[in-house]
Amino acid sequence: MAHSALKELCDLSRSAATLGSIGSLLSWDQETYMPPAAAAHRAEQQAMMAALVHERRTSPRIGDLIASCESDRSLTGDPASPTAAMVREFRREYDLATKLPGDLVAELARTGSQAQEVWKEARQKSDFAMFAPWLEKMMALARRKADCYGIPKGPDAKPGERYDALLNEYEPGMTARELDSIFTPLRQRLSAFIAQVAASTNKPSTAPLSVRIDASRQHVFGQFVIDAMGFDLKAGRLDVTTHPFCSGMAPGDTRLTTRYRDEKFTDALYGTMHEAGHGLYEQGLPKQGTLGTNGSAIPLFGTPLSESISLGIHESQSRMWENLVGRSRAFWEWALPHARRIMGDALAAFTAEDLFRAVNTAQPSFIRVEADEATYNMHVMVRFEIERALLSGDLQPRDVPAVWNRKYKDYLGVDVPDDRRGCLQDVHWSFGLIGYFPTYTLGNLYASQFWQTIQGQIGDIDRQIARGEFKDLKAWLNRNIHAHGRRYRAADLCKMVTGSPLSAEPFIAYLEGKVGSVYGIK
Ligand code: ZN
Repeated sequence: MAHSALKELCDLSRSAATLGSIGSLLSWDQETYMPPAAAAHRAEQQAMMAALVHERRTSPRIGDLIASCESDRSLTGDPASPTAAMVREFRREYDLATKLPGDLVAELARTGSQAQEVWKEARQKSDFAMFAPWLEKMMALARRKADCYGIPKGPDAKPGERYDALLNEYEPGMTARELDSIFTPLRQRLSAFIAQVAASTNKPSTAPLSVRIDASRQHVFGQFVIDAMGFDLKAGRLDVTTHPFCSGMAPGDTRLTTRYRDEKFTDALYGTMHEAGHGLYEQGLPKQGTLGTNGSAIPLFGTPLSESISLGIHESQSRMWENLVGRSRAFWEWALPHARRIMGDALAAFTAEDLFRAVNTAQPSFIRVEADEATYNMHVMVRFEIERALLSGDLQPRDVPAVWNRKYKDYLGVDVPDDRRGCLQDVHWSFGLIGYFPTYTLGNLYASQFWQTIQGQIGDIDRQIARGEFKDLKAWLNRNIHAHGRRYRAADLCKMVTGSPLSAEPFIAYLEGKVGSVYGIK
């Protein structure tokens, strides 16, 4: 039978994905409802599940089946076909899972967990010198990892760099050179805009952000908003954790988490909308669909065609709902009366315009996770430039604080007071997560570029949002982004959907229009 290899490959992959979904459920439970005393046994359960999943994903049988699919022209002859995309992505996943030798995987885990402990203490003491030798060790391991993966060929077929091999884990097909060409004009334009904002005398009041609202009322409001967005609460849940996340663990089961602070309700609101944006993507992926080949239908769950494209595209979905929808004037025209109805009188004194202005406050700061839309990407670009130079060896770990502080001064105009609030603030480098930060900015850029197209195709999108109607927007995202799974690379999807390659221009135009209007610029 012509496609029996593909069928068997998909069956094996589905069983690994089913096991993986059990692991996800264990993790979700651990973050939400598990009693503390269960921690030790839960670690055993998790380790066992991880080992089972790894064993299934790396079995030599899978390698043989991929090779036989690759040589079957009826599957891969047309590179744009769904079957060719499946085989291409099965190959990428299998290579990522099998190319690292066991001793390197163990070394990365061991040194990473030690480095993370040192990082915690170094951050607390604001003592970078203490962390520097560990950063050096993690960079050496990251270089070995990149060499095992091998440097992927970029779309321009020019020789790439080690960074690309690591980036490929999170953003397949993207290269450091390409990031540089998108980020450089973004940095220049943002720098000028941030200076204009800082000089403006028309600053919004942040008073609506510091009213006190009970967490239980915030929870009801959050559920009301995500329900309006179209998140299916019969196929998902919203619970409370320390670190909010979204887990699209299985067909019909997408879990969101958030956290509440009584004194700042917008933290939870935007955190919830962000995770629900991820959640709508997970619910929109064709996890319950099938692919018909030669008379037999292959279930899509467990295959790349039911998975998200990349971290950047995933983040574009969350940022779109959080920022382009949730921080718009139209959103507050709709949401404020409901917020008052559900959360009580705390917001009685404010208008929709007050809320809109308050949630678009822009202020350069030291801390990435607290940054606003105008300054956020600068934080990401500093990290990208530094980690790229560290990996290539152009920058020595001991010189990181000086370079970091200089870039913060140049790009954001702020003087970093100490390493705790400077280069030691993020955990990522301590466990060797290199190539991850840029996906945050890619998410912002993709979101704005998609939004520009959406505005052209749904002419009255703002009026719809002001009425709390999100159906057309959700349907557009389902049809143009979610339904494809991982059939296309991010760059190709972007061109296909928007007609142009990814660019920073739509984001800059959006920011200058919105934040500029708040600060009376232009
Ligand atoms: Zn996110």
